[in-house]
Amino acid sequence: MRPRFHPRLINGPYGDPGLYVPFLFENRAIIVDMGDTDLLSARDLLKIGHAFITHTHIDHFIGFDRILRIFLGREKNLHLYGPRGFFKNVEGKLAAYAWNLVKNYKHKLGLYLTEVRRDCLLTREYFCQNEFVPITKAVKHSFNEVLYEEPAFRVSAAILDHGIPCLGFAIKERFHVNINRDRIAALELHTGPWLTEFKKALYDGKDVDSEFEANSGKGQTQQFRLGELADQIAMITPGQKITYISDVGYNSNNKDRIVSLAKDSDHLFIEAAFLEAHKDIAFEKNHLTARQAGIIAAMARVKQFTIFHFSPRYTDQAHLLQEEARQAYEEEVSR
Ligand SMILES: [Zn+2]
Ligand SMILES: [Zn+2]
Repeated sequence: MRPRFHPRLINGPYGDPGLYVPFLFENRAIIVDMGDTDLLSARDLLKIGHAFITHTHIDHFIGFDRILRIFLGREKNLHLYGPRGFFKNVEGKLAAYAWNLVKNYKHKLGLYLTEVRRDCLLTREYFCQNEFVPITKAVKHSFNEVLYEEPAFRVSAAILDHGIPCLGFAIKERFHVNINRDRIAALELHTGPWLTEFKKALYDGKDVDSEFEANSGKGQTQQFRLGELADQIAMITPGQKITYISDVGYNSNNKDRIVSLAKDSDHLFIEAAFLEAHKDIAFEKNHLTARQAGIIAAMARVKQFTIFHFSPRYTDQAHLLQEEARQAYEEEVSR
């Protein structure tokens, strides 16, 4: 099976946190946290439509300026989600520049910010033609874990504690549609954009008896019933789930919320700034140890997990953190 999401940490485990999640066969991506993004090309960044920010400590958000710089002058909409105080932080960044020229740009950039509160979501819009001064008040929506949803997948958040509110995120595909390319060839069909339409029809739950047109090449099409075509060329498997946790203290509230958010993830990305030998420092700084990260990964029954955001005090000792997390995971799983 070829997964839809291909998540990768932007930097090495000692670098700024950030996860880049491109979509298979689609010119789009999600980014979670925006520390240093220099390792992403402008082309990579331009695929981003939705950005999810755990908190605005500088190592998680300094990359915003580069994205803004690259997006400016293009017809783009960028949706950003962050914790309480997010409007103020982004407005502060926007207020740092003079915008008298951009309002005349032919291509308009729009920023759609959502601030996640305990009891609601607040959304506010900022457009370059208005010099990024919001012209409307924030709109309030109810919040019940889900931040963003489309037929194929959803992004949920948990509010965690890092001395300040900090968000954890889970990206969950509803189900996965694998296309059998040999069957396509056997039916004398050609691959093409109709396959995206076909998948969309399945995600939208369209009537299986509805007509669907598939491409046979040279401008020719073949008619199928949607359900009949699905039986022939598609294999439906459980959806993929990716969870990202960065910068949290190890307390029972955080632990419960992370375990519930990350439950049964295919891949959990979780910070592990310190070794258990320095758990007092980790506690003081509201960070996890590698052992704590491993225990959480096991409690959430994740299939795979990656630790990152190592303190520079462990330069050249990454293997110690990796080993500690792996051991804790195995101990906890077999308990
Ligand atoms: Zn951090
Ligand atoms: Zn932090």
